[in-house]
Amino acid sequence: MKENIVYLVGSGPGDPGLITVKGLECIKKADVIVYDYLVNHSLLKNARSDAEIIYVGKKGNQHTMEQEDINQLLVDKAMENKVVTRLKGGDPYVFGRGGEEALVLKKNNIPFEVVPGITAAIASPAYAGIPVTHRSYTSTFGLITGHEDPTKDQSDIDWEKLSTGLGTLTFYMGIKNLPNIVSQLVKHGRSKDTPVAVIRWGTTPAQETVTGTLSNIVEKAKNIKPPAITIVGEVVNLRDQLNWFETRPLFGKTVVVTRSRDQASEFSEKLTDLGANVLEFPTIKITSPDDFAPLDKELGRLESTDWIIFTSVNGVDCFFHRLFELGRDVRDLKGVKICSIGPATTDRIKGFHLKVDCQPPKYVAESVVEALKEIEALKGKRILMPRADIARSYLPEELQKMGADVADIVAYKTVAATNGDNTVLDKLKDGTVDIVTFTSSSTVRNFAKIVGEDNLSAFKKNVQFASIGPITTKTAEEMGIEVSIKADEYTIPGLVKAIVEKSGYDKPQIPLESPLNKGILSINIPVLKEVSEEL
Ligand code: SAH
Repeated sequence: MKENIVYLVGSGPGDPGLITVKGLECIKKADVIVYDYLVNHSLLKNARSDAEIIYVGKKGNQHTMEQEDINQLLVDKAMENKVVTRLKGGDPYVFGRGGEEALVLKKNNIPFEVVPGITAAIASPAYAGIPVTHRSYTSTFGLITGHEDPTKDQSDIDWEKLSTGLGTLTFYMGIKNLPNIVSQLVKHGRSKDTPVAVIRWGTTPAQETVTGTLSNIVEKAKNIKPPAITIVGEVVNLRDQLNWFETRPLFGKTVVVTRSRDQASEFSEKLTDLGANVLEFPTIKITSPDDFAPLDKELGRLESTDWIIFTSVNGVDCFFHRLFELGRDVRDLKGVKICSIGPATTDRIKGFHLKVDCQPPKYVAESVVEALKEIEALKGKRILMPRADIARSYLPEELQKMGADVADIVAYKTVAATNGDNTVLDKLKDGTVDIVTFTSSSTVRNFAKIVGEDNLSAFKKNVQFASIGPITTKTAEEMGIEVSIKADEYTIPGLVKAIVEKSGYDKPQIPLESPLNKGILSINIPVLKEVSEEL
C-alpha cells in the first residue's frame, strides 16, 4: 500500500535550474502539488500528467488561500493517502511559514520531509554580482524580515545589535518598509555610506538591481516593487567587478520564438543562456501527412533509390518514424546515398547511425544542387525527397532538369498553429518585446496571420525582426516586415550569433510582471532541430 507523506520543498528563488535534485524528484512523484506565488511555474511541467496541481499563492496582501486553509489542505490531501509536494519559493523554512506547516503535519501524525531550497538572500545577490560574505569585508551575514510593522510598539528586531553587530544584512519583504529599515540602521549606528543593493525578481530574466548607500537608497529604489531583497554591507561594492548575470549579451532583451513548440527548445535555451527573456509563440505545428501511401511506396523501393535528400530535421524524423512503424530498419538503406541540407539535419541523420554523403556549403536548396552535381552526374538517378507539404519546388525542378527521376514526397505537414498566446500578443502590443525571430517562411506567414494585419502594423516599428536566411527574409519583406537581423549562416546557431551581434539598440526597459507564471521561461522538451529554409 502506498504511504502518504508531505514533502515541504524549496523550489529555489526563480531560476528553475536552481531547484535541488531531490526537490525535482518530489515534483515528479507527487499525487498533489500545492504551490505558491514565488514558485516558477515552469517547474510544474515536471509533474505527472495526472497530478492534482493546486495554487495557493499569496501576492502581497492578496491571499488566494489563508494559511490555516493551506495547512488544512495539506492535512486533508495526506489523509486521502496521497503523496503531497508542498512547493514553496526559495527555502521552505526561511520566512516561508514552512515551520508552521510542519507543526500542523506533526500534530496530525502525518509523515513529512523537508527539502531545503536556495533562499533569495543567497541567490539574488549572487546573480547580482554580490557574494554575501567575503573574507576582506565581512564574516557575518544575517537574514531579516523587513515586513515588521513600523508602528508596532515593541519591535522583535533588536536594531541596536543588528545595525552594528553583523556585517552583511539581508531584508526579505522589506520594500514597503525600506525607509523605516534604513532609518533604524542609521539611527543605531550604521554608517550612512554603507553600500546597499535592492534586487527585484532575482535570478530571473526580469532581475533588476538598484544600488546606492543608506543615505540615498530610498530615493533610488522608489520605483522598485516587491518581490525584492535588500542587501546592506560592504560586499555590495564587489558588484562592480562580479556582475556576471546582468551583463550577458542578451540580458534585458525580450525575444519571441515563433517555431513549433516541439522545435523551440534548442533555440529558446540558447537565447535564455545568453540572458534573453524568451517568449514562445508557436506559429506552426508539424503533423503527419494526410496520406502515407506515396511515402510507403517509396519506402518499398529503397533498393533502387540512388539518393535521399533530407532538407529538414522534420523530414529525417518523419521518414525514419514511418520506416520503423512499417517494421523495417536502417539496413534497408544500404547502398542509398544521403544528402543533408545543413548541420542540424546532418546531426539528426547521424543520430540514426548513418553517414551523410553530401552537405552543401550553404544551407539552402540552391546550394544542394551545386554540391550534388560535383559528386556525380544525376541523369537517370532516382532521388527521394521526404519533405513538407509546403516545401519549395525549386530543388525537385532543378534536379529533374538535370535528368534525375525525383520523388518529391510529403513526409509531414506544416500547419498553422491557431492558438496564439494572448499574453505574448499583449506584450508585442505594449512594447515589451525587442525581437521577433523567424526560422522559416511559414513562421513569417503564420505569425502575420495570427497577430493580424492591424496589430502587426501597429507594433512592427517597435520591434526588430530576425531571420534565419534569405528565403525567410524575402518572405518577410514581401509582407512588409523589415528584417534588421539576418543570419550569415542559415542555422539556429547562426541566427543566435546574428541576434547577439545586431540587436544593439537599447529600448527603455519596461519592468516585467511576474516572470514566473506566464510561460516566459522556456520549457525543456526533447530537442528537435531544423535548419531548412525550405518550408
Ligand atoms: N522562502 C523564501 C522567502 C519567502 S518571503 C526564500 O527562502 O527565498 C518572500 C520574500 O522573499 C519577498 O518579499 C522577497 O523579499 C524575497 N524574494 C523571494 N524571491 C525573490 C527573488 N527572486 N528576488 C528577490 N527577492 C525575492
